[in-house]
Amino acid sequence: MAASVDFVVVGSGAGGLAGAIAAKLNGLNPVVIEKAALWGGTSALSGGGVWIPNNHLMKRDNIPDSYEEAMAYLEATVGEVGPASSRERKHAYLDAGPKMVRSLEKLGFTWIRAPKYPDYYQKMPGAKVGRTLEASNFDANRLGAMLHTMRRNMMRPLAITTDAAPKIPTMLRSFNSLMGVMTVVARTLKFRIKGQVPLSMGQTLVAQLMAVVQSLDIPVRLDTPLKELVQDDAGRVIGVKVTTAQGEETIAAPRGVLMAAGGFAKDAAYRMPLQGVTGEWSPASPDDTGDGHKIGAAIGAELALMDSATWYPVSISPDGTINVGIWERTLPGSIIVDQSGQRYTNEAASYVDAGRAMLERDKTVPAVPSWLVFDTRYRNRYFFGQIPPRVTRQYVESGFFQKGETLEELAGKCGIDAAGLVATVTRVNSMAAAGGVDADFDRGDNVYDEYYGDPAHRPNRSFGPVDAAPFYAVRYWPGDLSTKGGLMADAHARVLRADGSVIEGLYVAGNNAAPVMGRTYPGAGATIGPSMVFAWIAGHHAAGADVSVC
Ligand SMILES: Cc1cc2nc3c(=O)[nH]c(=O)nc-3n(C[C@H](O)[C@H](O)[C@H](O)COP(=O)(O)OP(=O)(O)OC[C@H]3O[C@@H](n4cnc5c(N)ncnc54)[C@H](O)[C@@H]3O)c2cc1C
Repeated sequence: MAASVDFVVVGSGAGGLAGAIAAKLNGLNPVVIEKAALWGGTSALSGGGVWIPNNHLMKRDNIPDSYEEAMAYLEATVGEVGPASSRERKHAYLDAGPKMVRSLEKLGFTWIRAPKYPDYYQKMPGAKVGRTLEASNFDANRLGAMLHTMRRNMMRPLAITTDAAPKIPTMLRSFNSLMGVMTVVARTLKFRIKGQVPLSMGQTLVAQLMAVVQSLDIPVRLDTPLKELVQDDAGRVIGVKVTTAQGEETIAAPRGVLMAAGGFAKDAAYRMPLQGVTGEWSPASPDDTGDGHKIGAAIGAELALMDSATWYPVSISPDGTINVGIWERTLPGSIIVDQSGQRYTNEAASYVDAGRAMLERDKTVPAVPSWLVFDTRYRNRYFFGQIPPRVTRQYVESGFFQKGETLEELAGKCGIDAAGLVATVTRVNSMAAAGGVDADFDRGDNVYDEYYGDPAHRPNRSFGPVDAAPFYAVRYWPGDLSTKGGLMADAHARVLRADGSVIEGLYVAGNNAAPVMGRTYPGAGATIGPSMVFAWIAGHHAAGADVSVC
């Protein structure tokens, strides 16, 4: 038994680290146990957006927001999908979120806003622009030896920020976009000149959290998977059984256990019956295997919303890389069609809606995969992911891009119904010519759709003709950023049984938990936000502290 530890945090993603910090601040002695040899989880691979309405950075920048508006927006977008998203849990999230942001800032965590990032449902009451926060760029060297075990993404170390990302694809189209990219280059050089390695997005998020964890002397044990929860005779969770290189070990947790072990995106056998997909199109961490779900359920925890995921249309490069770009389907000159050649959704809608639409469509018309169809004008103007404009031949040769001199030829190569594709493109082109209004799916009629659009394209930044031969197509799959369903919890993040009773001593946050956001994704950062906030709440509750005064 590790005598000094009194609170065990399972998982070293954003949720786990935030929960451990909260527990320590309130006088507990937490330990973070991590299954993998690397810490950071899917959080480290993420965009690092954290959706916290009504935060003090907005106030500082004179951006009006309020608890009431945020609640109205959550009520309108999330709706009633069971106790995970009860009014009490929404309240807990909206109340504790801004306090957590401020407390972490006091501990040296540097937040910045993504001032232009719109909430995803702009027509809903209470929608805003600029609620998403992220960690500022951070020098990787400050982590010391912990840097070597941080889960790394595939991006080169760049001092990029969320609001700079949409400028990349259109940097050859607009001076403003070019300046945005130049700012990133300049910021990166500034780091480099000082011998620093800039981290951004999910990397800086977990790195800054880890820096706080280190400053508070919270132990993090890698290669230490949770195997079982230990309960006393009354059913209270009082410890964990883990395996290590030395064998099985029991760690006592008299103040409780926080489950923050992520989702189940990568356990195909567990996932398939629940969601009808295997996870092969998910870029979540390979350790996202639902351990926390299974171990929680084994002691009677209720599972909810297990059919839900943060759906995300993806393409797959020939080397197997899962591409999670947004702008490819948002820029004008592209459309998504099913295998009958028809559009079925607003391609520029939020990734959750666009991904779910693909799965829904597939129930009636083959739509997995769907095809992103675009023309030469689009290819010559915009980056496709990281592929520069005009660079095309090698991607045609590798089979990533299909190419046709005519739409009929393209359809033949892709197995799309040719007449259907021609009819769809003809209609798109006529709508584009007649004022650029997408009368079928409203693409581009709000600032969210425009965010990843082309500022130089008028009248609709996101919708335009597909008429410049040759034509191209890329397969699109219904991927996801991880799963959403999990252990049911109350507003204190305490895990519940099916009868609504509390499993004392057991807390849950993040993708391990049934989400406060239900099946919806209201804004950028709507998984990491709740993950951190409910872990924060758990850390307080376990210590007997009042989160409302933190
Ligand atoms: C490319 C990409 C971009 C994304 N961008 C965003 C974004 O900008 N904003 C946003 O909100 N969301 C984003 N997401 C989704 C987001 O990253 C995840 O939903 C979130 O990070 C989950 O956090 P978590 O703390 O629940 O789990 P994780 O960060 O996955 O951490 C869970 C940890 O638990 C560990 N673990 C698992 N089983 C055990 C066990 N038995 N014992 C001990 N440890 C265990 C795992 O190894 C992992 O390290 C993105 C995802 C991807 C893939």
